[in-house]
Amino acid sequence: MARTPHEKRRALIAGAGIGGLAAALALSRTGFLVDLFERAPALEPVGAGIQIPPNASGILADLGVLHRLEGKALEPERLRVRSGATGSQLMTMPLGREARLRWDHPMLVTHRADLQAALLDAVSQDINIHLELGARVTGVEFDATRVTLQMASDSGDLQETGDLLVGADGAHSLIRRAAGLGAIKAGYSGRVAWRALLPAEQAPAFARAKETALWLGPKTHLVHYPLRGGAFINIVAITDDEWRGDDENFWISEGDPKQLLRAFRDWDSSARKLLEAVSDWRRWPLLDAEPLKRWSAGPITLLGDAAHPMLPFFAQGAAQAIEDAAALGAAFMPRSWQETSITRGLADYERKRRARAARIQSASRKQGMIYHLAGPAALVRDMGMRALPPDMVMARFDWLYEDQRGAFLT
Ligand SMILES: Cc1cc2nc3c(=O)[nH]c(=O)nc-3n(C[C@H](O)[C@H](O)[C@H](O)COP(=O)(O)OP(=O)(O)OC[C@H]3O[C@@H](n4cnc5c(N)ncnc54)[C@H](O)[C@@H]3O)c2cc1C
Repeated sequence: MARTPHEKRRALIAGAGIGGLAAALALSRTGFLVDLFERAPALEPVGAGIQIPPNASGILADLGVLHRLEGKALEPERLRVRSGATGSQLMTMPLGREARLRWDHPMLVTHRADLQAALLDAVSQDINIHLELGARVTGVEFDATRVTLQMASDSGDLQETGDLLVGADGAHSLIRRAAGLGAIKAGYSGRVAWRALLPAEQAPAFARAKETALWLGPKTHLVHYPLRGGAFINIVAITDDEWRGDDENFWISEGDPKQLLRAFRDWDSSARKLLEAVSDWRRWPLLDAEPLKRWSAGPITLLGDAAHPMLPFFAQGAAQAIEDAAALGAAFMPRSWQETSITRGLADYERKRRARAARIQSASRKQGMIYHLAGPAALVRDMGMRALPPDMVMARFDWLYEDQRGAFLT
């Protein structure tokens, strides 16, 4: 049925992860009525720590989300890089005020559940957004201008039609397959992340410092930072390993502490002390994929991990989903009295986002290789790091952390 001139266009979003929730807020602001469908019956407070870099925190402020993290998110004072073998410092980069001055917005760390709750809070206060939980998308039909989602729920099968569909349904995206966009399935990268939240009082003093710590060793690295006002230490230990587990329900995969300690047996004793303090590890397979050639087909597009699964070595997975959301909203920002057509808006969105996301996918892969170097190559890496003054370290992150919103609006 044709729309009356003042009727709002309807956007359907599959998946209410960080990407889907941010996209709902961004599209509502540009005049869409948004229906968001999530297969989970409740948005559970799962996961652990997540970094919110300046390129994402500015967007979250714009979307009315950042202030909801006040008192929950923490602003680390610096990034400190150490050698896993000796514990000696290789490099530091100032964060905190210095990061805000350089990149205009804060570098934060928070619990993933707190970020999700803040997004959900903003979504629930937006009368143009309807969130349907327990609705699993099972199929998609579309032509040039309309798209219909088929869904299964406890109360029976559902069907919804809209002018636009955003596939924000994660790395194993059904929408990507249904729209014929993803011949390449996101695959296991050969790396496993071991994750833990340790009560701060059980952690050695060095791990309680208000900083993000990165330790590098052969085929292993370690990241930790304090969370929730310093009450917990978020720990991520990465190993090169095979994956034997359920890759869609990874957060319930428990890890054997003895196996982890074996992988870190040649490490400095202070780092091992931190790892030994943890009894409850979750193992998380890291996925990687080559960039997609296209993100959109007719009135359908992809966003977040559905469009560009990436290794977490620049901590940009969620940030890139948030950038996608801002770019998608900007692509439909009315520039004159006439609204932008869906296909034109999607072409604009893809043009502004694809190259940057692909660059970060590939840079994250390369970063992982650099982190896990061994022997003489690792020595050269460490010498190079020791020689870099903090200002030059910051300059190397400019391309990643600079605010992208100006480019989305051109
Ligand atoms: C449970 C979980 C915990 C995580 N923890 C961390 C963390 O601690 N730190 C970190 O840096 N990153 C974490 N990640 C990854 C990070 O959140 C993502 O890289 C980033 O947020 C991209 O989000 P996304 O919204 O694109 O995808 P996702 O976060 O994967 O969200 C996709 C959503 O789509 C839903 N969905 C999938 N298929 C369907 C379907 N057929 N119908 C309806 N809904 C569907 C899923 O249930 C999910 O809610 C986690 C991801 C998940 C799912």
